[in-house]
Amino acid sequence: MGIIYFDASKCTECGSENIGFNEQRAEFFCRDCGFVLMDNLPVVEAQHGKIEKVLVNKNTKRIAVMIKGILRSPIEKKMVPFYAEIKKFALPKYIEAEVLTLARSAVEKKLTMSFSKIEILSSLIYHTCKRENIPVLIKDLEKTYSIGKKRILKCNNLLIDRLGLKRINEINVENYIIRIVSDLGFNCNLAAESIQISNKIKIDHPLIRAAVSIWLAGKRLKLRIKKKDLAKLSGISEAALRRNIKRKL
Ligand SMILES: [Zn+2]
Repeated sequence: MGIIYFDASKCTECGSENIGFNEQRAEFFCRDCGFVLMDNLPVVEAQHGKIEKVLVNKNTKRIAVMIKGILRSPIEKKMVPFYAEIKKFALPKYIEAEVLTLARSAVEKKLTMSFSKIEILSSLIYHTCKRENIPVLIKDLEKTYSIGKKRILKCNNLLIDRLGLKRINEINVENYIIRIVSDLGFNCNLAAESIQISNKIKIDHPLIRAAVSIWLAGKRLKLRIKKKDLAKLSGISEAALRRNIKRKL
């Protein structure tokens, strides 16, 4: 049994020290941003093992989380890089917990013999975000973790196989459009127009469909969008973008 202590005198989300205590639920919350300070418990569980008990001290503003099993088991040691590296992406807490839980299974199944920890982590982030419709582009993972797209996808296949993950083919083009438009520095007018167009045109490849829709919408709204920038931000080649625009004009 191990115990981890948390300081509840400061909000981990916004830094405010204006912390309240909900008697009924026995939990601390931030009076400024509303964050519940116990919301990271799933992450704690994913990192350290099953939580046995949570003790809250209202006066000292401390939370003690009792965890079953021994901290720093051999598996636990192998998990350390995952905890550090996942912080490079500002993922929602529930996604982070899910990714770490899956990473733990991957470590337990010794999948680290076939792929590096970073490759496994990237693939899991990619897979989980895609499933939850949160746009994380492969190019961001490539850049953050300096690994190639091919390795991420190959590792993803292994994880789908060995961890029994569901294969996801559908990606939400709208989310990608919103993300790319904001990266380009334009506002939601362009995004709304692009989404409308994307619902009408037929291009199988979702990223190409997103990029072509944005370009056509830009033209309609008389905005100057460089094909080169658009292709780069969409994670497709400029040639593919030009070719598909030509077909739709
Ligand atoms: Zn706060």
